[in-house]
Amino acid sequence: MRKILVVDDECDICDFVKNFFQERGYEVFTALCGEDAIELSKKEKPELILLDIKMKGMDGIATLKHLRAIDRKQKIIMVTALDDQDRMDEASKLGACDYVIKPLMLDYLENAVERNLRVAL
Ligand SMILES: [Mg+2]
Repeated sequence: MRKILVVDDECDICDFVKNFFQERGYEVFTALCGEDAIELSKKEKPELILLDIKMKGMDGIATLKHLRAIDRKQKIIMVTALDDQDRMDEASKLGACDYVIKPLMLDYLENAVERNLRVAL
């Protein structure tokens, strides 16, 4: 079963995305902050991480730096609002493989996840 990790400081978004991917046969972990995301990443080694940029405390960019230092093979898709272009550029320089824009459209999100899981590094 393919493991993914959803990182978002909004509980509703974690639950919503988790349910959606669980129904499609993924094993889904969720984290509400960067620190928990790093711990779960070490423990569960998900193949792909959906990572919110705007989070309280450690934001998505800082979390991305830590995650990349732990495992460079993980695919990390940033989740962002439209006004985050500068941070998206930074994220892509730091090794994020893709991004999706909020509000999340689930069919688009599913395509992004499947597309990135197919790409070998
Ligand atoms: Mg957020």
